[in-house]
Amino acid sequence: MRQAARTGALVMVFGVVVTALTTPPACAEPFPTLRVLIVNDARVRPDILARAKVETARIYAEAGVDITWVDPEQVRLGFDLRAVVKSGTQVSRLGRTTDVTGVAMTTPDVPGGTAFAFYDKVQHFALQKGFSTEQILGLVMAHELGHLLLGPGSHSADGLMRKEWEGRDLDLMRFRRLTFTSQQAEAVRRTVRRLTATAF
Ligand SMILES: [Zn+2]
Repeated sequence: MRQAARTGALVMVFGVVVTALTTPPACAEPFPTLRVLIVNDARVRPDILARAKVETARIYAEAGVDITWVDPEQVRLGFDLRAVVKSGTQVSRLGRTTDVTGVAMTTPDVPGGTAFAFYDKVQHFALQKGFSTEQILGLVMAHELGHLLLGPGSHSADGLMRKEWEGRDLDLMRFRRLTFTSQQAEAVRRTVRRLTATAF
């Protein structure tokens, strides 16, 4: 089991090299665009939030999806996703005590939804594991948005959508290699294409 997991990591790293050396075909389909509104309730410093957005966008770009960050007045209700960053105080005010860094909330059969990142937990995890806050915030937003796009039961044994990041996930994170699996990336692209098609 352990050996199989290691092989998986090697294949993933090898895949990166191949991708880097391969010229994309001229007729490649353009990336579908995922539209996301960020609500910075935790008053995260703008420079940290900007770098976190770059991290989230990079992960989606690797899955073949462009992210457009929209302003509140541009939101198309029911079609655009929201990522809300909450502070610890705001989370406890909601009557929640949580050890998780984020949650995703969606309604069955209604596209869109809201991904929450809990900033105090993000900061704590980053400090404890030796990462920058912006990287972890970017990863948490990518993971929770991933739940909205992949639907119920979207935790996986490998990659970004693991329920908890530990061990070799942290190693992959250090090399910016914690991503969606290829099947998840395909499903994410499909959902984003569907959201785009139905929004007009
Ligand atoms: Zn999750």
